[in-house]
Amino acid sequence: MWTLILNCGSSSVKVALLSPGDGRVALSGLAERLGSEGAALRLDVQGERRVLALGTGSYAEAFAALLGELDALGLRADVRAVGHRVVHGGEAFSAPALITPEVLDAIRACSALAPLHNPANVAGIEAARAAFPGLPQVAVFDTAFHQTMPEVAYRYAVPDAWYRQHAVRRYGFHGTSHAYVAQEAAAMLERPLAELNVVTAHLGNGCSVCAVQGGRSVDTSMGLTPLEGLVMGTRSGDVDPGLHDFIARQAGLSLDQVTAALNRESGLAGLSGVSNDLRELEAAAGRGHAGARLALDVFVYRLAKGVASMAAALGRVDALVFTGGIGENSVPVRAATLARLGVLNAGVDDAANARAVRGTPGVISAPGRLLALVVNTNEELMIARETARTLGA
Ligand code: AMP
Repeated sequence: MWTLILNCGSSSVKVALLSPGDGRVALSGLAERLGSEGAALRLDVQGERRVLALGTGSYAEAFAALLGELDALGLRADVRAVGHRVVHGGEAFSAPALITPEVLDAIRACSALAPLHNPANVAGIEAARAAFPGLPQVAVFDTAFHQTMPEVAYRYAVPDAWYRQHAVRRYGFHGTSHAYVAQEAAAMLERPLAELNVVTAHLGNGCSVCAVQGGRSVDTSMGLTPLEGLVMGTRSGDVDPGLHDFIARQAGLSLDQVTAALNRESGLAGLSGVSNDLRELEAAAGRGHAGARLALDVFVYRLAKGVASMAAALGRVDALVFTGGIGENSVPVRAATLARLGVLNAGVDDAANARAVRGTPGVISAPGRLLALVVNTNEELMIARETARTLGA
């Protein structure tokens, strides 16, 4: 039995076909450049790569090509459901939802909160409903896991009317990943999740930390948008809210230009002037590049402060979990972060830390210190499981 996982962006769709029970992956792939010349669907099927050209590159064509491939593989009849990754569920969704016309309207209504993402998610869902008419479709939200945050954590100290009238509050993102790695950490530690206080650090191109108490999110570093919090690949994370006005006047920029720069030209890329890619920064810092060194230092410093702030939200921390491309692979970032967290009794086991790369999870803390773990995130599997759970399978 397979579940098709779709992550629809404005010009791309990530696809995966997997089995929610055991996590087996039948195929995975990416349709890119939708709506323009050269649109194509690239699929990995059991280690073999296939590239299918897409005519005008619509979602409909991408899904038709996918269906053709499912037929060719004899898998179509065994696909039982479609799970969609949806970025913003606002306050309307604290759990995944079976997609009905009303649910689709509610997702549309959250578009003001995620103007780049939700409209693309909705368009993808509509096209998928047309392409796979017999299959139940489920929306799994990036924000839903964080709907358990208490009001003290989710409210900004801004005029109350902004919240009441415009839904200005902290929502948090990466919820699927934080929820998944907290579960995996509990399994690795052989402890019930309900008894654990865990700080999860999802460190990829986007980065966020989350305070998970008994499996529920009680705080996280991202807020109204995914720009708040930690330093990321190209996103600034926290800045003084006065910065927008100041730099707009000084540099003669529009609000849109400032927002775009904070999202796309800041973070590791902006500080280093080299790259948003942590591997390149580590290599450049190794060659003595001062900007790359500074970017790495600021990244780690802010990450350690972020972890400590989640510890304050939890009161007691049983474990710190690293995940995402950086969290799963960067030995130096993990070591430097733990070195800065003496206040939490953190301490690294260098040999164990060095072993936890390229998909090898494990405990990386020294004995008697705060438990620190590396866990591989798997958002597709979590979406497949949530889809199955929502359908009562
Ligand atoms: P993600 O968005 O989860 O795919 O993570 C992307 C980030 O992970 C980029 O900054 C990559 O440079 C980083 N990354 C991936 N592999 C490694 C590695 N082996 N060592 C350090 N960073 C890595």
